[in-house]
Amino acid sequence: MTDLSKTPEKTAQKTAEQATDQAGPAPFGTPAAITVTGVDRVFGKRKREVVALSAVDLTVAAGEFVSLIGPSGCGKSTLLRLVADLDQPSGGTIAVFDKSAEQARLDQDYGIAFQQAGLLPWRTVAANVELPLKLHGAGSAERKARVAELLDLVGLTDFAKSRPDQLSGGMQQRVAIARALAEQPRLLLMDEPFGALDEITRERLQAELVRICRETGAAVLFVTHSIPEAVFLSDRVVVMTPRPGRITDVVTVPETLRARTDATRDHADFLHTVAAVRAALHGGHEPAEDLA
Ligand code: ADP
Ligand code: MG
Repeated sequence: MTDLSKTPEKTAQKTAEQATDQAGPAPFGTPAAITVTGVDRVFGKRKREVVALSAVDLTVAAGEFVSLIGPSGCGKSTLLRLVADLDQPSGGTIAVFDKSAEQARLDQDYGIAFQQAGLLPWRTVAANVELPLKLHGAGSAERKARVAELLDLVGLTDFAKSRPDQLSGGMQQRVAIARALAEQPRLLLMDEPFGALDEITRERLQAELVRICRETGAAVLFVTHSIPEAVFLSDRVVVMTPRPGRITDVVTVPETLRARTDATRDHADFLHTVAAVRAALHGGHEPAEDLA
């Protein structure tokens, strides 16, 4: 198995080059965004026992984009929930920016976006994006400025006063992403955020996520069922298999694909890397029959 503990130098360097003044390059010695060490998660007891995760080790560097891919039930969502402190491991440790997962949650170190946008239907788009800022006591002028900035970032300025049900699925997902970014997190946790979208909208939102990551310098832990999506977005693709859920392979996306433009998908290395991830998925003990 590939060494997961090592921070790829090239990735760190690239992140520094891409970062804007607003985000700034990650200074040398910046703690990893996520450090998962020997994590197990067992649900149920005795005969009903399900080993959702077994001996998982994973490090996500500051500013790094890492995807989790694997068949249903291999523990992707469980791992994300543990990092988000929505659940606790049965064994092992999780650190987020060198803090406990709980402390990172309290410090609002990360934003979360899941498959369902999860917007409040009675609130306008602007009010949905504003909510986390309001909950955490930001002043009215600050909130207004930040919401305007976020809606601009996801291209929804003209829809500030719309209700979620007046928007397409892709637009709703963009609102959810804007909300996740509200407090300028250094880390985004995303569980199949584009899973329910059509292919065209999906590619558009992928491009948008690439741009947002460059502008904010945020690290991302991203769950997807789509191999091309994982290869397009990621610095590394982590392959998991079920029963017990574990990491079986890690594919590093080559430098030649890190521009992440439309041309990237036609690059010969793109097809090779997609094939490598597919081979890694099928190399597990279980056939990956339920992968898209
Ligand atoms: P994935 O997101 O990769 O599809 P999950 O992390 O949702 O997989 O689930 C991994 C395994 O753990 C599955 O077998 C699932 O049924 C089980 N599991 C997840 N959450 C719970 C829970 N709260 N109680 C019991 N079993 C669970
Ligand atoms: Mg899941």
